Amino acid sequence: MALLQISEPGMSTAPHEHRLAAGIDLGTTNSLVAAVRSGEASTLADEKGEHLLPSVVRYLPDGRVVVGSEAKAVEVTDLNNTISSAKRLLGRGIDDIKTLAGRLPYEFADSDSQVPKIHTVAGDISAIEVSAEILKTLKARAENTLGGDLKGVVITVPAYFDDAQRQATKDAARLADLTVYRLLNEPTAAAVAYGLDQDEDFDEKIIAVYDLGGGTFDISILRLNRGVFEVLATGGDSALGGDDFDHIIAEWILQQQGEHASNDPQKLREVLVEARRVKEALSLSDTVNVSINDWSDTFTAEQFAELAEPLVKKTLFACRRALRDADIDKDEVMDVVMVGGSTRMPIIRERVGEFFARPPLVDIDPDKVVAVGAAIQADLLAGNKPDTEMLLLDVIPLSLGLETYGGLVEKVIARNTTIPITRAQEFTTFKDSQNAMTIHVLQGERETVEENRSLAKFTLRDIPPMVAGAARIKVTFQVDADGLLNVTAEEETTGAKSSIEVKPSYGLSDTEIETMITDSMVNAKADMEARKLREQQVEADRTIEALDSAMQSDADTLLSDDERNVLLKAREALVLAKESANTDSIKDAIKAMETAAEFYVARRMDGNIRTAMAGQNIDKFKE
Ligand code: AMP
Repeated sequence: MALLQISEPGMSTAPHEHRLAAGIDLGTTNSLVAAVRSGEASTLADEKGEHLLPSVVRYLPDGRVVVGSEAKAVEVTDLNNTISSAKRLLGRGIDDIKTLAGRLPYEFADSDSQVPKIHTVAGDISAIEVSAEILKTLKARAENTLGGDLKGVVITVPAYFDDAQRQATKDAARLADLTVYRLLNEPTAAAVAYGLDQDEDFDEKIIAVYDLGGGTFDISILRLNRGVFEVLATGGDSALGGDDFDHIIAEWILQQQGEHASNDPQKLREVLVEARRVKEALSLSDTVNVSINDWSDTFTAEQFAELAEPLVKKTLFACRRALRDADIDKDEVMDVVMVGGSTRMPIIRERVGEFFARPPLVDIDPDKVVAVGAAIQADLLAGNKPDTEMLLLDVIPLSLGLETYGGLVEKVIARNTTIPITRAQEFTTFKDSQNAMTIHVLQGERETVEENRSLAKFTLRDIPPMVAGAARIKVTFQVDADGLLNVTAEEETTGAKSSIEVKPSYGLSDTEIETMITDSMVNAKADMEARKLREQQVEADRTIEALDSAMQSDADTLLSDDERNVLLKAREALVLAKESANTDSIKDAIKAMETAAEFYVARRMDGNIRTAMAGQNIDKFKE
């Protein structure tokens, strides 16, 4: 695989051979699988005709595992062994779930592993294993329907999923024996379902994806640039969804019945079921008859709109904030995609349309749109559309960084960042009057230069003479949509500039990438220690350099011979400590050197010298 994977995985060498591929929406409450058949993407049903698979898994004492509605039906009665919402735990460590655990009805097992496990009759189970069961069920459904083995899948994940959560999703797929062509962000999948990436009239467009489900609300602002989606901002509320709209209707019903709050759970449940029915019926008609036992009344869309206003406003407020985070004006948004069952509510469509001043896209079933987009992408990646231009939805497989003093690597763009991306970082000179700086571009996850891969080296010249640490050198890494890396270095006070383009078309194989990532994990501790040592060595060099520079300029006038000897002794001790390669000894020697030099620093700070000596050197000895 190249640095940036441009030749897509699974590209068929035999263009006419149809490869079976599917898109999977692995949801918190429900999951779906979809595929492209006869050129049309649609979700696949189980043998009962159901498309939605409840994301619920039940473990039985005899080792059997039940997935979907059958498991959901016993969720309440077999709480400890029936796991729902595993997605919330994916990629979370023991420490993360401590805060969540109180709110989850499971018994977490004590274990040495960093991955939290739920105690069930069938043993201790991780969220990855639970998700793998859901994926296995969907895989079987797809293979039965499509009549063959799946070559690969695209699985969607929330745009805000971090690296660990994405990795856990991939691990679940591996356990389910699925080949993952790619993980795709849920909002991106929804935009792909509407073919927004195929719009040739625009080089670049901004898309808002408004996703209101049963219990959560997400807003994402995407930028589509020559087929590449970039998530500019995400926002929302993890505790706001269709259920809240049910509650406001339920409250109205109880009020009409003369009961402000019902303490009877059975009655409340009845009222909530009716409220939900009323809410959903209002999506088709303006007036709905409400009836519970022998009580009945009518409820109108207008009443609903009034009661629902605070909830609607909350979502629009989150939209405004996401736009602000993305630094995008409302009128720059060119398409608004609706996702999630609750976007069927006319009031939502209307208000979102007003907010963005354009009608939102609602033609595709909002429950299925994400899976449909994933299926389209999977079909493309399987190589079933050789004439279509490939989507370059890509991420950087390994971190990109720079060599800094002491042979260390400073990461500038982290692994898995979506392209295109631009990131800049400031560096400074190490020596007084340093007039050139070598920029060494590296790729990999390890801490030191030797253990990463060298991509390019160039030199920034004509840095004006300054004291060490005063120059401001801005190094910008830019990876464009075609996967080309361009690195520019500029000295900001003078504007001296130099750049290089790195063409990463040759590159590492998948196995090499995997080895580099695994190595960085296995060696993480040793690397950290090596890094600390190098950092102390660099600090020692800096301290010596600063002392030498200061003494060269004014030791004759400011120091007696004895004083000079004291300082030189401390310097010698520091040189020895540095050579000992012991982090703590170096640290101590630096401290000792600084203490010994305190009087000298004070003297230098006095009078005229103070102005003459402003800069890093004096700062160093001021501490
Ligand atoms: P999701 O989590 O995306 O499956 O969304 C489920 C939510 O969508 C629930 O709160 C449903 O009540 C809501 N929903 C489904 N159909 C409709 C409809 N026709 N009108 C209003 N809300 C709906």
